[in-house]
Amino acid sequence: MVGCGTIGGYLADLLVKAGAGTGDGRLELVDFDGLRPQNLGRHRLGFSGLFNYKAVALKRELEALAPGANIAATPRDVREIELGDFDLLIDATGEESLGHLLARKHQHAALLTVWIEGPGVAVRGVMRANEKGGCYRCLCDANRVGLLQTVEGEMPKLLAGQGCEGLYVPFPATVSLQAAALGAEMVSSWVNNDNAPTLRTRILDSQFQSATPDCTLVKQHGCPACGS
Ligand SMILES: [Zn+2]
Repeated sequence: MVGCGTIGGYLADLLVKAGAGTGDGRLELVDFDGLRPQNLGRHRLGFSGLFNYKAVALKRELEALAPGANIAATPRDVREIELGDFDLLIDATGEESLGHLLARKHQHAALLTVWIEGPGVAVRGVMRANEKGGCYRCLCDANRVGLLQTVEGEMPKLLAGQGCEGLYVPFPATVSLQAAALGAEMVSSWVNNDNAPTLRTRILDSQFQSATPDCTLVKQHGCPACGS
């Protein structure tokens, strides 16, 4: 799992509770960022993790909850490392450009991307489980030409410079929790191979109407990330 911010923190917790890292499994947490005081109000971690790498503190926290779990922390920028073998890559960073990069670099891997849309209007997830499935980049490109939109009408824009974890964030931590819950549900579907929708949207702001029912996202022709 790449990204141990507010989404990743809660998602990792849910995954470990669902059995990640047990048996022959291993959960690797990748994030180069540190936990700062302004994160505490909305992050899964608390005071004991302050000024530690989020990945390292999260590993410690999860191991205390589930001592048998095999959890690794990699406090590095995923752009600068080579990930070893894995069954599923989860992008919980919420960074669009990084999502595109991961989709391209690992185009033959199972990849889940989960993120928050607009100022907490909705959460979304895309699971590309096989070669036929569309990736996060496929969806972003479809969105740009008006397809597979999240909500009817215009999505309000986040002000520049807003992250998910600063002091002044236009949505509460519950939004990150919803994104984590959606991600955990999609991982569960992937584990169970249950043919559930691979593009899922949860509208959180009742002023908005969903524009795209949950569906199977197919690879978009000419996607720069997942090939022709
Ligand atoms: Zn694609």
